[in-house]
Amino acid sequence: MPHSPEKPKIAISACLMGAEVRYNGGHKASRLCSRLLTKYFDFVPVCPEVAIGQKMAAELADICGYIFMQKSLSCGLDRVKVYSINGAPMDGGGRGLYAQTFCTQHPDLPVEEDGRLNNPVLRENFLTRVFAYSAWQQLRQEGLTRRGLTEFHARYKYLLMAHNPVQYKALGHLLGNMGRADPDEIGPRYFSELMAALKKCATRRTHTNVLQHLSGYFKQVISAEDKQAMQLVIGQYHQGIVPLVVPLTLLKHYLRQHPDPYIAQQVYLQPHPESLSLRNAI
Ligand code: SF4
Repeated sequence: MPHSPEKPKIAISACLMGAEVRYNGGHKASRLCSRLLTKYFDFVPVCPEVAIGQKMAAELADICGYIFMQKSLSCGLDRVKVYSINGAPMDGGGRGLYAQTFCTQHPDLPVEEDGRLNNPVLRENFLTRVFAYSAWQQLRQEGLTRRGLTEFHARYKYLLMAHNPVQYKALGHLLGNMGRADPDEIGPRYFSELMAALKKCATRRTHTNVLQHLSGYFKQVISAEDKQAMQLVIGQYHQGIVPLVVPLTLLKHYLRQHPDPYIAQQVYLQPHPESLSLRNAI
């Protein structure tokens, strides 16, 4: 499996995990986070209003993502009502104060609001980024090398092509021109751009393009009938008749029959655990 077997750590507004820390003594437990996702992630509940700064900084040192409570004056990422000094609501709203400071300090960290996670495309995108962040932390712990960076980029090729084809090329150039540059200098630049590229959601069109590329690897080895079957399901996915998991399952079936080490290592095939079923809904 391309993703790490360890559970990535995700910080979360404590009230979303059921802690009764809200101004009214209540909570806002998110079933998705507090029940379903706990099997896959170690959640670190944080309430900036009751936490002690130093303890919080230590707990958040190795997180791979943050889920904020929406519309909160402290934790909200977006659409927080901000009032002027005379109490009148200001145009456009903004980020909660704590969320604003935290995101500025951690520009590459995947962050999302709980409400937006109900959207299957945004949920899949956020969790894909969390696993990418986690894979990068692991690479960094092992020590960055030029070879390690090139291999990492090769594994992310098709995922990047689905999210942001232009950035895929730009990142390839960055690494292709690294010469004898220090990997500890180029690595963080590469990673920042990778995380920014993955933030853009893949679309049915870009996924279809990647599926076509991947199916091209099997065109010499599978029968005309199988090629036709593959084209049919890619077309059905493109038209919105079947979800992404359908053409991918067929591709993986051909991959098992005709192993190809370059394709097998692609993160795109399984950017998150299969049992999360994130690609059944997109
Ligand atoms: S500050 Fe954040 S975590 Fe604490 S109650 Fe408000 S929204 Fe929830």
